[in-house]
Order: sequence, then C-alpha cells, then structure tokens
Amino acid sequence: MSGKLYIVSVPIGNYGDMTVRAVETLRSAGLIACEDTRKTGILLKHFEIESKLFSYHDHNENFKTDILVQRLLAGENVAVVSDAGTPCISDPGYRIVRAARENGIAVEGIPGACAAINALVVSGMPTDSFMFEGFLPHKKGRNTKLKEIAEEKKTIILYESVHRIEKLIVELTEHIPGRRICVMREMTKIYEEHICGLPGQVLEKLRKTPPKGEFVVVIEGISGKVKSKIQEI
Ligand code: SAM
Repeated sequence: MSGKLYIVSVPIGNYGDMTVRAVETLRSAGLIACEDTRKTGILLKHFEIESKLFSYHDHNENFKTDILVQRLLAGENVAVVSDAGTPCISDPGYRIVRAARENGIAVEGIPGACAAINALVVSGMPTDSFMFEGFLPHKKGRNTKLKEIAEEKKTIILYESVHRIEKLIVELTEHIPGRRICVMREMTKIYEEHICGLPGQVLEKLRKTPPKGEFVVVIEGISGKVKSKIQEI
C-alpha cells in the first residue's frame, strides 16, 4: 500500500498562523521535503516536530522527485513544505504532486497561509476573478508581461523581492499610471504595511524610506478602475 503525499502550508512570517492540522501532519509524516533544512528545522523545533527532513528545492527537484515517489510507493507518508506559505505557489512542489498522481499515489492539501491570497483579500480590489503572475521575468519577456498587465481586466497579483520593488513600481508608473495598486509589505509580521494608491503616489512613499522585507503587489484590473472610488495613500 502506497503512502500519502501531503502538501502542507506553513506561516508567511507569523508562527501564530501555523494550523493544528499542519502540526499533526508534519508530526506523523515519515519524511518532510523542504527547500531549506535550516529554516524548516527552526519551524519544526518551535512546534516540537521530530520527523526527518529531506532537501527538495528548485535545483534538485527533478532528481529528488524520483526518490520521493519511490519512498511513497514503498508506503511512507511524505509531507512537502516550503520556506513560507503554500508549496507549489512560486515554490517547488508541482512536480512531486504531478508525479504522485501519475503513480496513483493519494495527495492531500493541508491549507494555510499564502501571501498572494492574503494580499488580495485586504486590497479592496475585486476578488471574483483575479490573475496570479508570481514574479515577473527579470529580463526577457518582462516588457510583454507589463503590456499584458496594462490590458488585463482582472485583478493582478505579483510577487516581488526587496531588490526589485522600486524598479517594478517605476515600470507601473509608466505602463499603468492611472490604475490603483496596493503594495503589501511584511504581511503578518511586526512591520506589516500596506501602501495603496496610484503608482506615482506609491513610488513617492516607497522612496521616503528604503524598502525592507517581502512584498506582494496587487494591481487593479481595467474593469476595477472604472468602479473604484477608493482614495488613499
Ligand atoms: N509559497 C509562498 C506563498 O504561498 O505565498 C510564496 C513563495 S515566493 C518564493 C516568496 C514571495 O512571496 C516573496 O518574495 C514575496 O513576494 C511573497 N511573500 C512571502 N511572504 C510574504 C509576506 N509575509 N509579506 C509580503 N510578501 C510575502
């Protein structure tokens, strides 16, 4: 009898967001596949979880997927976590889920924090239909994506790192100067901040203090622009 593959969400910065099921699932898993054994080790220690860790990240995902499938087929329960939030969302995980399904292995999600969804629901932008783009490509294809965003009717969610957040907002001032955006910084952490307004206004505010931490950018779609009466910065 095969084991089961669990896709387990963990907090995006606040350990208070760890779910009871996540702790129980990680405690009972034979193996926890994680991106960074040091980071996940800290989480496991905090929640007194003693299961074994297995390194599984972008650079070894293909090769390690085969090993995980063998262990699942041998009857072991395997949990996948990422450094923060939900695996498979701009993080490794998709390949092992697909391989498990191809091999008839049961898969279960243990839901929890996800930066994209948390940012969307506090943005005040339409949530009935949205598009998640993750990180924009750094070079090739970036301009095309920005042009697509300028034409997009749905709310758009982007991830961005501290090194590129200012560059991205500058680009938004050029491509969508009249559309409302929300920059969510350090969600669930002590210095959580939401900067919302037109790209030019957000840029001005961001430049007053050098940006720190992690960011999600939520962008109003064209249809949202027509309806939005929110004025804030
Ligand atoms: N799988 C994760 C999830 O479910 O949200 C996302 C992983 S992705 C590699 C990391 C990016 O998520 C960061 O660069 C940032 O854009 C966003 N992010 C993660 N935690 C965040 C937080 N607490 N506040 C704002 N953005 C966050």
